[in-house]
Amino acid sequence: MKAQVTGLHHITAIASDPHQNLDFYTRVLGLRFVKKSVNQDDPGTYHLYYGDYAASPGTILTFFPWAGLRRGRPGTGQAYATAFSVPAGSLPFWQKRFTRLAVKQQPIESRFNDQVLPFADPDGLLLELVATSETDSRPPAPAQDVPAGFALRGFHSSTLALTAATATAAVLTETMGYRLAGQSGHRVRYTAAQGGPGTYVDLLTDPALPRGLNGAGTIHHVAFRVTDAAQENSAREILRQSGLQVSPVIDRAYFKSIYYREPAGVLFEIATDGPGFAIDEPLEQLGTILGLPPHLEPHRAEIEAALPKLN
Ligand code: ZN
Repeated sequence: MKAQVTGLHHITAIASDPHQNLDFYTRVLGLRFVKKSVNQDDPGTYHLYYGDYAASPGTILTFFPWAGLRRGRPGTGQAYATAFSVPAGSLPFWQKRFTRLAVKQQPIESRFNDQVLPFADPDGLLLELVATSETDSRPPAPAQDVPAGFALRGFHSSTLALTAATATAAVLTETMGYRLAGQSGHRVRYTAAQGGPGTYVDLLTDPALPRGLNGAGTIHHVAFRVTDAAQENSAREILRQSGLQVSPVIDRAYFKSIYYREPAGVLFEIATDGPGFAIDEPLEQLGTILGLPPHLEPHRAEIEAALPKLN
């Protein structure tokens, strides 16, 4: 038995200033601000969610912003880089835009059959735009000044940096239903379900990479998706029987989640596709109210008073 993981659900990273974070992901990258919530383990800080118009699983990048937090260092033992899918031919648009907006970027590189533009957010979080020749029929994020033909279409892949990939690869392929999709240099690619952009996990074992240090500009965890609670329970049992320490199912209001560390130490989550982000505000108004889980609702007034104003 293998878990029926269908791809990436969301990726959560650590940031410093919340205003700077909101500005970069909405104004520069053109993602939609789809939910303003709080860190459920630390309700004095925000949990900010960005994605496509409908806040679809597979498009959601989220942040825990702590103003003034020191920078970490992306490296081994972490989810190292987060890639978004963009249409073939759109990278020159993004290069010009990044130059104009003073975004740190690297030269375009080739990876498998795609062109990749590496860049970084204001905290140094490593991001990539993958101009893929593969079909990606997901709708573009509806940015005001990014033409639909260039806009982000959700995640392409998550790259994990590891000193050794064998044990992590075994968890992906033997318990999570992933399969080998390609190998190039120090990079091995895995895919799930139907494959394609939004499913890929790359394991990178480049000996030149430093050891990762947690802090602003690093990934906190990678969440994979399953269709529903039954698949979540089944996945939990399969992971447990494989010897992994798995959390109980936790209700995150917008989805249900389990958490575990893969053997190299990267925190994984498996989240359900539903119920989604439109449970506490209409789809047209996502990101407007402060979304709180039921157990924090009685403390709304004090929580809102303690958070910095965002928008
Ligand atoms: Zn998560």
